[in-house]
Amino acid sequence: MQNVCILGATGSIGQNTIDVVLRHPEQYCVYALTAHNSIEKLIEQAKLCQPTFIVLSDANCFKQAKQALVNAGLNTELLCGAQALADVASADEVDIVMAAIVGGAGLLPTIAAVKAGKKVLLANKESLVMSGELFMNAVREHNAQLLPIDSEHNAIFQCLPHDYQYANMAASGISSILLTGSGGPFRETPLAELSRVTPAQACAHPNWDMGQKISVDSATMMNKGLEFIEARWLFGLQSSDIQVVLHPQSIIHSMVQYCDGSVLAQMGNPDMRTPIAHGLAFPNRIESGVKPLDFQTVSNFTFNLPEPERYPNLYLAIDASNAGQYATTALNAANEVAVAAFLAGQIGFTQIAQVNEQCVTQMNGCQLDDIDAIVAWDLECRNAAQQIISAYAREAS
Ligand code: NAD
Ligand code: MG
Repeated sequence: MQNVCILGATGSIGQNTIDVVLRHPEQYCVYALTAHNSIEKLIEQAKLCQPTFIVLSDANCFKQAKQALVNAGLNTELLCGAQALADVASADEVDIVMAAIVGGAGLLPTIAAVKAGKKVLLANKESLVMSGELFMNAVREHNAQLLPIDSEHNAIFQCLPHDYQYANMAASGISSILLTGSGGPFRETPLAELSRVTPAQACAHPNWDMGQKISVDSATMMNKGLEFIEARWLFGLQSSDIQVVLHPQSIIHSMVQYCDGSVLAQMGNPDMRTPIAHGLAFPNRIESGVKPLDFQTVSNFTFNLPEPERYPNLYLAIDASNAGQYATTALNAANEVAVAAFLAGQIGFTQIAQVNEQCVTQMNGCQLDDIDAIVAWDLECRNAAQQIISAYAREAS
């Protein structure tokens, strides 16, 4: 029996994780579920999973959540505040941590799980983008087991040789990594119309049902940019090792090309329960509830290259990845602020990339030697992005 802590349990990945875990009650037991402030949803999940702890990172939730727990007749313990996330993620009782908080808020609890040497299932790509080398060094130093949940990275992981040598593609006979992406809902929208798309349109992804932030990131392809950076750290790759390929059907989740001409692809219906089940059970396989791929009904596979004018965020991310940690941390911070402003109706869709570019250009050359420095730099860059957005608002009025 393995004890699982699900960080970000009420989100899209969190709910899918609970779905898979509950299919295997003989193998997994939920130790802790966390959310930011979705009290009702978390209590509902607690009724289903009977965890030892639930955690709300928003400390203001304590009183109301305590009452809700009593009303539900649960003897689950309630913790509140940001530190409690790190505490449950690193608790001795925990074997597996699903890191599924969205954004930079996931950094400290995910790092806490890594430093406690857990089996860490990484969905929260932003934490790796923000702290790359420090994160990977902590994985090695503390003997954590890091398994990619992002569908593309999980696919690449499945297609790599079992004895893949980190940062040495040539030794493993690999010639390139093909990172696939659907291109999002605006793949064919005339460029001139992009500035007018609404948050609802941006959040309606054609193939995947996801949280709002990653849905907007998929529409701008910042998501693929973050994934490009994520892939470099997870597998020790150079920028030139990775090619981004548009595959609108989202059936192939990424590919590995070998020097003998072989290309291995991982395929399946677009349902995150596949990579979640893979990560949970690795190196074994368990049922996930995902429908088998039906080759009678699967549509044609098509492939294209992403257009730079349509997806400036993708190219900003690749440039940031080449520039270094300060730039990827700055870009991630700017993007979170810009996406939140877009969702709140404060800026237009195409202004997300403008804010990002301006912020990364402005914020450069900072040395980041530890996680405290990352957190401080992240905050500085968020403030800078906020000021850029305020200036746009002043110009517009
Ligand atoms: P979501 O918005 O659906 O859920 C986010 C979760 O994080 C919620 O439980 C929320 O309560 C919690 N949260 C939000 N702000 C927080 C804060 N400040 N402190 C603590 N907790 C907070 O997001 P999602 O779509 O499930 O994505 C989660 C992560 O997984 C993201 O990093 C995303 O990029 C990654 N991911 C998601 C998918 C997907 O299909 N949804 C696929 C690949 C990777
Ligand atoms: Mg992905």
